[in-house]
Amino acid sequence: MKDQNQKSELEQTVQRGLYGPPKIKGEEKKVYLGEFRERVIVALDLEEVFYDEGVAVAEDALKDPMAHRLVVNHNKMTSTWTKKYMGLAQEYKKEYKSFHTEAEEAMGLVVVSKEAVNRENIRVKLRLLPDKFQHAEHKKLCSDCLKELQELAPDRADEFQKLGFTDRLLGRSCGVPEEEHGKGKKKD
Ligand SMILES: [Zn+2]
Repeated sequence: MKDQNQKSELEQTVQRGLYGPPKIKGEEKKVYLGEFRERVIVALDLEEVFYDEGVAVAEDALKDPMAHRLVVNHNKMTSTWTKKYMGLAQEYKKEYKSFHTEAEEAMGLVVVSKEAVNRENIRVKLRLLPDKFQHAEHKKLCSDCLKELQELAPDRADEFQKLGFTDRLLGRSCGVPEEEHGKGKKKD
């Protein structure tokens, strides 16, 4: 991923040399919701914006002291997600903008600076949970589910805990719904 980014940076430099900056800037602005690539801190595509992990990435970018504005793709946004991103911008006291675009190559969201920051890596790989854990009702799991999660997404497993004795006494069961449990495996 890093190599690809470096390559595209190189390609961009080459293209600038070949075609001159103005046209490239125009193309960049289509992709980055009206913003210059050199100002982008992070960019999420049209799939990534609709994950809570995407919101987390946007939040991290807003914590960057260089962050100035959060821009979303108006044409693709839904009200639920608009609220989340708008709320984030407010929380970190950054500008919020909804950008109208029909461009196919447009991103879903960008967090940008006021000036050129020339970040090499503006695309972040989302640390997605497997589906059944994505929709878990709470963060306490039976031992089977916790084991499964540790195998599938070890870097996310520490967000969950194993159901304890007290939980069971209180009648709590695994956060993964009964019907999502593996066939033949008994819920413990
Ligand atoms: Zn379970």
